[in-house]
Amino acid sequence: MKKVAFFETKPYDKESFDRANNGRYDISYFETRLKAPAVPLAEGFDAACAFVNAEIDRAVVEGLVKRGVKILAMRCAGYNNVDFQAANEFGLTVVRVPAYSPYAVAEHAAALLLTLNRHIHKAAARTKDFNFSLVGLTGFDLHGKTAGIVGTGKIGRIFADICKGFGMRVIAYDAFPNPATGLEYVSLDQLLAESDVVSLHCPLVPETHHLINAETLKKVKPGMTLINTSRGGLIDSDALLAALRSGQVGGAGLDVYEEESEWFYEDRSDVTRQNKTLSLLVSMPNVILTSHQAFLTREALSNIAQTTLDNLDAYFAGKPLENEICYHCLKSGGHPKEGCVKRAQGLCQG
Ligand code: NAD
Repeated sequence: MKKVAFFETKPYDKESFDRANNGRYDISYFETRLKAPAVPLAEGFDAACAFVNAEIDRAVVEGLVKRGVKILAMRCAGYNNVDFQAANEFGLTVVRVPAYSPYAVAEHAAALLLTLNRHIHKAAARTKDFNFSLVGLTGFDLHGKTAGIVGTGKIGRIFADICKGFGMRVIAYDAFPNPATGLEYVSLDQLLAESDVVSLHCPLVPETHHLINAETLKKVKPGMTLINTSRGGLIDSDALLAALRSGQVGGAGLDVYEEESEWFYEDRSDVTRQNKTLSLLVSMPNVILTSHQAFLTREALSNIAQTTLDNLDAYFAGKPLENEICYHCLKSGGHPKEGCVKRAQGLCQG
């Protein structure tokens, strides 16, 4: 039986993977995150399974391969934390779960928006204290307002539909607009200028790093609400903090934070030297921060486990890997060109 080293295990991961595994693999569950110091744990394993904040740099890739790991199964959609050049050089195959429940993430974005706008977080805290005052809880109708969707892939399109359900006008920006969505595409500048709500759903790549920064924040509709369920690095957090303080941004619903890997998924309440920007952000009444939990539904966890194990099945059976992230195809901007040997053999679907 093939052995899988499963990193950064939480109780909900073990539950969903044990259910889906059903004796297929010998899975060892480790609590530690996959980064350099954890690599020796992978000695003698055939596969490693890691999550969104793992740090899979060159040394980790080399270390895994030296210890016998042949495939890295990312149990998430994003892959900005993997050194693909190194994976290609050392011959480590990398697979992921491209879609497990885009509904989970889009619905969480909607939850952040409604909570912020209607001050549900404050109202719930007040009534627990038998404070039934409504002062300071005034929101605004979403109906008739404009939602700007940045990134119109699986999640962005579902969030666009949710916004339409509220009776909002929806406009969109995407580096690769897709006419089949039927969405009204505009430039990023126009989107920022016209949107009452901006929701980020594009990947974190060099071109989108700090897409929301001091300059772009000057272009937004004053008082707008910003929602980010994609990746923290899309926003310059210090610039956002300044815009929240000046009122240029009226509220922010954040499921991700650019330096989240040090904090998220763990109880860090005992740490006294906290991250200053993060502390200031969470202290603001018009900011809601969740700990990268947009994916966390029963349906998504079940799909993540099933697809991860199916990816491993395909690899060990020598079948084409539907969910491989191919270095050659990545390098050609996501559009496969020459140079991908596996593609020529029908093994890469990049
Ligand atoms: P997707 O690949 O289906 O869609 C991404 C969209 O972004 C595509 O339409 C693409 O053309 C567009 N895009 C690419 N580069 C761009 C650029 N430079 N500027 C503007 N748009 C660009 O991805 P998805 O499944 O919709 O996921 C979107 C993002 O959500 C992921 O990249 C991931 O980071 C994040 N995510 C977060 C969670 C969570 O729990 N918070 C869970 C899953 C995914």
